[in-house]
Parts: sequence; C-alpha cells; structure tokens
Amino acid sequence: MIDPSRLDTLPESTNTLILGGGIAALSVAFHLEDSEYCLLEKKGKLGGHACSHLENGVVWDEGPHVSFTENEYVRQMFASAVDNQLNEIEVQIRNRVGDQWVDHPIQSNLYQLSEPLRTQCFESIRNALSSETVDKEQINYSDWINARFGACFSTEFLEKYTKKFWTVSPALMSTDWMGHRISTPNVEDLTDGFLGKSSNSKHYIRKVRYPIDGGFESFLNDLIEGCSNCYVNQEVVEVDLAKKTATTASGQTIRWEKLVNTLPLPVFINLCKQTTSAIREVVNVLCCTQVALVNAVAPSVSANPGHWVYVYDESMLSTRISFPGKLSESIVPRNYNAMQVEVYYSKFRPLTEPIAEVAKKVMSELVDLGLINASDQNQCLVSTQWIPWANILFTVNTRAALETLWTFLSQWGLAREDGDTDPVPRWDIAPRAVDPGTIFMTGRYGYWKYYWTDDCVLRGKVLAERIVCHERVLSRPVTL
Ligand SMILES: Cc1cc2nc3c(=O)[nH]c(=O)nc-3n(C[C@H](O)[C@H](O)[C@H](O)COP(=O)(O)OP(=O)(O)OC[C@H]3O[C@@H](n4cnc5c(N)ncnc54)[C@H](O)[C@@H]3O)c2cc1C
Repeated sequence: MIDPSRLDTLPESTNTLILGGGIAALSVAFHLEDSEYCLLEKKGKLGGHACSHLENGVVWDEGPHVSFTENEYVRQMFASAVDNQLNEIEVQIRNRVGDQWVDHPIQSNLYQLSEPLRTQCFESIRNALSSETVDKEQINYSDWINARFGACFSTEFLEKYTKKFWTVSPALMSTDWMGHRISTPNVEDLTDGFLGKSSNSKHYIRKVRYPIDGGFESFLNDLIEGCSNCYVNQEVVEVDLAKKTATTASGQTIRWEKLVNTLPLPVFINLCKQTTSAIREVVNVLCCTQVALVNAVAPSVSANPGHWVYVYDESMLSTRISFPGKLSESIVPRNYNAMQVEVYYSKFRPLTEPIAEVAKKVMSELVDLGLINASDQNQCLVSTQWIPWANILFTVNTRAALETLWTFLSQWGLAREDGDTDPVPRWDIAPRAVDPGTIFMTGRYGYWKYYWTDDCVLRGKVLAERIVCHERVLSRPVTL
C-alpha cells in the first residue's frame, strides 16, 4: 500500500534526485538514509520490473523472478523482508526438444537426446573441445559458440534459442555479457552426460529463493518501507543538465545537487535538453528486447516438466515457460496449474499482431506441448502483459556506443568508472576512489548492464555510500 504522502506536491529542490522507482532506485534511496533525497516514479506503484500482481487468482511476476544471489547482504535483506517466510528450492530446468523433455543444460545431458542427434552433438562438442582455445575477446557470439560447441550443436540448439530469446542472429551479439551463463562442460563431463545421467549439474542457477506469499515483490518490502520521499505518478518529461532540474508531466520542476538515473538509458538521454542529434543517433544503437507475457491458468495439471522450460521449436512463439505454483503453492489456487509464457520481440523483430493473437497461438502451443489438456482449453483463464524493457541486447556495437554516451554525460557531471562499459558487474573488485561527480547511473536499464536484482541492490548501496561520504567530506570544517 502506497503512503498517500507519496503523491504530494514535489519540493522545489533536493540534494539527491532519483529518477525511477524500481529496485535500483529504491536501493539508492534506502541506503541514503538521513541524507536528503527525492524519488520520482511514473507509475502508481514502486518496485518497477520486480513487481508482482494478482490476476485470475494467481500472483504473477513480470517474467519468472527468483533470487539466486550468493551475496549474504542481499540474502539477508530479502529474507528479512518476508520474515524468513520463503521457499528455498532446488530447481529443475528442462528443454523441449522435439517431443521430449531434456534436462538443462542439454550439453551436459546428451544421453536424453534421440539418435543420431545424440552422437552428432557429442562429436560436435568433443571435436570443438580438442581444437584451439577460444579467445572470447576477439570474436562475436556466433564464432564463439561454433568454436566452443561445433557446428552441429550450435546450429541445432544455441543458434535457434538465441534467435528466439534474443531476437537476433548470434553473429550480431558480443561475448562479453556471457559470464558463466553458457555452461561449457569439459571432456569428462561431456562424456558422462553422453553415457548417462551426470550428477554434476552445470547450470548457474541451481538453488533459488522465493517468498511464500505475495510473489517476488515481497522481497522488496524492507526497501519500500525504508524509503520515505518517494513520489509516485510523477513521470519525468524533461531533464536540464545545465540548470540541474527535472520537470514532471504534472508541470512541476525540481532542482537537484546530485542526480541518480535509473530510467532506461535511451529514455533518459532523450529527455535531456542538452542531447544533440549526434548523441540521439548513438543512443539508437542500443537495443533491448521486449517481452509479451501470456499468463494462463488451467483447471488441472497436465504435465509437470520442471520449474521452467526452454522451447527450441522455431515454429512456436513460446520461448520460456514457467510454473509459478512450483515456486510457492500459496500463490496459485489449489488444483489449478498456472503457466507463464514469454515471447520475445525487439526492434529487430517487432510485434506486428495484437497481443491477443499471440496469446491465442501460445494457448494452442501449450496444448501441443502437453502442458494443457485439450479438454481444458476452453476453461483456461488467460491474461497478457507487455514488458517494453526486458533483456539488454549486448551487440558488437554496444561498448562503443556506451563509451560515447558516458563521455557526453561526463561533461555534465558523470564521473567515469572502471568497467562502466562492461555488461557484467564485478563486486569482488573494490571500486577506484574517484571524485564521485554529480550524475550517477544505476539499474539494469539505466546503467545498461546485465544486472539481476541483487546487482541493483548492491550498486544502490555503493552509490549511496559514495554520495554520503562525499557530503561528509565537503561539510567537514577546514583545519590548517
Ligand atoms: C523476463 C525477466 C526475468 C527476470 N528474472 C530475474 C530473476 O529471476 N532474478 C533476478 O534477480 N532478476 C531478474 N530479472 C532482472 C530484474 O528484473 C531487473 O534487474 C530489475 O528489476 C531492474 O530494476 P531497475 O530498477 O533497474 O529497473 P526497473 O524496475 O525497470 O525500474 C525503472 C523504473 O523507472 C520508471 N520510469 C520509467 N520512465 C520513467 C519516467 N519518465 N519518469 C519516472 N519514472 C520512470 C519505471 O516505471 C520503473 O519503475 C529479470 C528480468 C526480466 C526481463
């Protein structure tokens, strides 16, 4: 429940103005504690992309959200937010290959594929493993998967799924976003998984945490309760970097000393008065996928393949299907089965039909996949949700575009940081002590990084400490 004071008239000025009200913005506000700030969120609710909502009796997240953080600080924050009322789950992830369910990752479970594909894939990967070491820095994602897995496995699986999930050919993508996301078995693990079930699961997500009640959003309870000066229904429509002001759709202007942006970077850049046409062209290089969510509730459980599944079939729209009731029974009515299907789009593959048509096709795919009984189809409750910012697409051109954008913003107070053009954050390296500057970027879309919710929390903590620390230094009396 939003405190009505959060809808009040804005102050004329603030020390730190935070744009956006998702988890990244909330974390900055929460960690600023007594330091004066003001947060502006365009929607009527805080939490952004980490929000959950109740519809057709089920609590839905915006795409499957689980916490798999290993960071103790974030684990404690999330656990305390739900009074330790959470499920800790060993997840089962499956792949739909032909008409079979294959354990994830496929490269570690080749024994479940039918012949001759099983042997062809084994040889494809084994031969690739015995060739030269691959240098990730030098090549695009297509070259990397072909060098690492061989042509057969890459074409059959990785290319197909990249086109469905990322909406582009792997050749357009860089490799710097991968981190440990793509599992690469060594020869022993590959052979084990070719001969039979290997006990050595290689997926980077194994154990997850999920609130018993209220969906993923409940993990944000402490953050939201710990923030006071948050104004909802306040869309920022202009930012003047020279005058240090932001104006909202309601016509109010607020002056800041320091600015923290979490709005999607292209949105922010286009709101800035000082943005030139050359900079607008650069920002157009950035690309993020969009996702249509089809949320279906069936009156009975047909199949039970896992917590979530990946669908490789290119003739199907369904890309990833998750089952909220397997994360917490209490968010789905008893004896019903809830399924959330993600279908991905971007400027490279725009949505060209009404989302209701997408839902119709997806529902028939769920029957074909055996996830809904044909006799139940007409009794299913279906809703849809359009998420305009989903996964940032790291292409071979992203790094150079970010370099130009950060350089542009540094004229107005953004301090360059180590790794600011890297997609993946490194929390194990202490940040270099720099003049903190007056403009700060954070969040998955604001800082244009492959951030999970824990990264958003941690970055907010670091930024708030930097802001508060600098204020203390400035307010310290000069001693001779
Ligand atoms: C499909 C999917 C699944 C995911 N699964 C997981 C998962 O399992 N685990 C995990 O940890 N992470 C997951 N994530 C990532 C996670 O959702 C994000 O890292 C995180 O929510 C990003 O938070 P943010 O604050 O950076 O952005 P957002 O939540 O998008 O916040 C930005 C805010 O800015 C507001 N805004 C935009 N424009 C304006 C404006 N002009 N004026 C004022 N406000 C504005 C928006 O309304 C929004 O509230 C997933 C992401 C996706 C897409």
